[in-house]
Amino acid sequence: MFMPVGTQGTVKGISPQELLDIGSQMVLGNTYHLMLRPGEKLVQAHGGLPGFTAYPGPFLTDSGGFQVMSLGHMRKITEEGVTFKSHIDGSTVILTPERSTEVQEALGADVIMAFDECPPYPAEREYIRRSLERTIRWLERCHAVKTREDQALFAIVQGGVHSDLRRLSLDLTLPYETPGFAIGGLAVGESKEEMYPAVAFTAARLPEGKPRYLMGVGHPEDLVAGIALGVDLFDCVYPTRTGRFGYALTDDGRLNMNSSAPRTQLQPIDGDCGCYACRHYTRAYLAHLIRAEEMLAPRMLSLHNLRYLHRLVERARAAIAAGTFQPWAQAWAERYFRHAVPAWFQAALSAGEKAEAVAG
Ligand SMILES: [Zn+2]
Repeated sequence: MFMPVGTQGTVKGISPQELLDIGSQMVLGNTYHLMLRPGEKLVQAHGGLPGFTAYPGPFLTDSGGFQVMSLGHMRKITEEGVTFKSHIDGSTVILTPERSTEVQEALGADVIMAFDECPPYPAEREYIRRSLERTIRWLERCHAVKTREDQALFAIVQGGVHSDLRRLSLDLTLPYETPGFAIGGLAVGESKEEMYPAVAFTAARLPEGKPRYLMGVGHPEDLVAGIALGVDLFDCVYPTRTGRFGYALTDDGRLNMNSSAPRTQLQPIDGDCGCYACRHYTRAYLAHLIRAEEMLAPRMLSLHNLRYLHRLVERARAAIAAGTFQPWAQAWAERYFRHAVPAWFQAALSAGEKAEAVAG
């Protein structure tokens, strides 16, 4: 499944009812943002994220680690945790495995993530190795302080784009037998040619019967390639962010609604979509809203883009059930990439096919 991202306790511009209508199954909340503002205590006073946000479905919260690394100022990483200056008021904050777990218990998501370090790209091999070993000690500490039985704690496999380091991280992480595993440390600036072999290597070695979550990844082509390699869960701000910039996701690629062509087109964005925007509006009307800077435009494009990704995984799921995933994915890619399917995508499909054959 694809999880919409509700960074500040809201999927930007989309109401909980709309999320239910388009088939969202789980929403992601960000520990870093919610801890700094409004503070996890206030969320807890509403009964956690479902009460606070009025989205009645499941939630997943990240550990805050990734965002501290990318958003915190003057951050300092030690064995204890990460000390940083809040991007909101400049105050000094320390986030540790214990604190991350405590905040995530207060936020009350169904799935919580172990506090990890996601090294930047590029990083020295030796740094990545030391970092992944520390991530295991941090996982141990998260486990030790976790009190809620109703939350599933997922561990995160690191190791950058190096297969030997991925193997080391797997060897150290798998014994924890957490209810799910995430593939972390990717989509941080490396090329797709480097990223997908690392996804393939890691996903193939994670347990068959537990969810595999590729963190922070969510372009349509990433979903199809990731699913081919055995990934189950994705999240990304991409569909809402690109929607706010006036782009619509379709099987024919990304449609630029800011360009001149849509201004006179009387068809919906996608006749097969079924989202509110596609059932009610022409491309011309939506293009008009964009030019008039009406707030309905970014809302409708975000709604459509989320529905597109949900429908994409629904189609992939149906193809898997029917035993037709490979031809379905190939046909999808031929159309999406306009017969110029990139080598990295083709390689991911072949690697997935081989893994499937080995699994019997
Ligand atoms: Zn639509």
